[in-house]
Amino acid sequence: MPFRHARPLVAEVSHSALQHNLAVVKQQAPYSRIWAVIKADGYGHGALRVADALPRADGLAMLEMETALALREDKETRPILLLEGVFNAEEWRLCAQHQLQATLHSEAQLRWLETQRLPAPVVVHVKINTGMNRLGFLPNQVTTVYQRLLASKQVADIRWLTHFANADHDAHDTLSVSQQLTAFDTALAGLPGLRSVSNSAAILRHAGHAADWVRPGIMLYGATPFADQSAAQCGLRPAMTLRSEIIAIQTLTPGQAVGYGSRFVATTETVIGVVACGYADGYPRHAPDGTPVAVANLPSRLLGRVSMDMLTIDLTAIPRPQIGMPVELWGQQVPIDAVAQAAGTIGYELMCAVAPRVDVVDV
Ligand code: PLP
Repeated sequence: MPFRHARPLVAEVSHSALQHNLAVVKQQAPYSRIWAVIKADGYGHGALRVADALPRADGLAMLEMETALALREDKETRPILLLEGVFNAEEWRLCAQHQLQATLHSEAQLRWLETQRLPAPVVVHVKINTGMNRLGFLPNQVTTVYQRLLASKQVADIRWLTHFANADHDAHDTLSVSQQLTAFDTALAGLPGLRSVSNSAAILRHAGHAADWVRPGIMLYGATPFADQSAAQCGLRPAMTLRSEIIAIQTLTPGQAVGYGSRFVATTETVIGVVACGYADGYPRHAPDGTPVAVANLPSRLLGRVSMDMLTIDLTAIPRPQIGMPVELWGQQVPIDAVAQAAGTIGYELMCAVAPRVDVVDV
């Protein structure tokens, strides 16, 4: 066994929460098949772990070819979709060899496909740019792309997808879900092939448009895609709990400060707990004083600037504070979205930023 430091910081991943959240997807989209989106190492939870925890997901979608190959090596037989497709001609060969389905969003990818001799035909998901203007063919290119794919001997099946820019809020002045759906449906009028459009926000708020396959990410992990509705209000359970412990205690007298920049200065006697978790672990450095944490199941708050390996919290109201007391940075008592909001970001970013040095364990 390699040496493991006994530092108490750990990210616990709950399989039952992941399964519960998948059940919420199924409730919302009962007639759709589900791509569990496990890019960015399963939004920080471990892609292979999430795939194992969700045997009822119909397929696994990700960006990274490495993850797709690791899953196949792990005997994963479900469909796997590469959400940005291939990044060079050779990667089409890997798709064919390992039965990886690929998004096709650019002329370059299409040419690489047309000019390769693949060992087997591939399933291609053509991405249509319906207004988000990141990836995809324009609606007026769709028929030509379809005909070129039909003409190719290397294509086993042609499917279609698009991605919403604003499924998380009702957009009056910006591109709306219904505008994007209209563009999608118009571009595909009369063309066969399975369709996929919905991310978590669309699954939750636009369930009627779920199409053949849905692509939930954040909701599987139990965080909210919305600024105005919490994960609990969406019926979701947090899959990740980031836990640590108090490793030192300091008592500040009025006028004394804690940490870099002396950001927090005590006005009354203040008991400070030093917690083994810092920005090098993925905790947001920009979290302000007052960001919620929980100590021994009691609510507390961050005080002072987050450093690389430590952060400091208020223990003044905690009875008999002690070294070794458990601290929850986010998870069950402290929603990750509350920490994210305090730090001016979103739950997605916090999950994905959990650093490799943090042990991730199953619960
Ligand atoms: N589909 C695509 C193409 C994506 O890029 C993503 C994530 O960004 C998702 C689905 C999942 O989105 P969410 O995590 O908001 O459910």
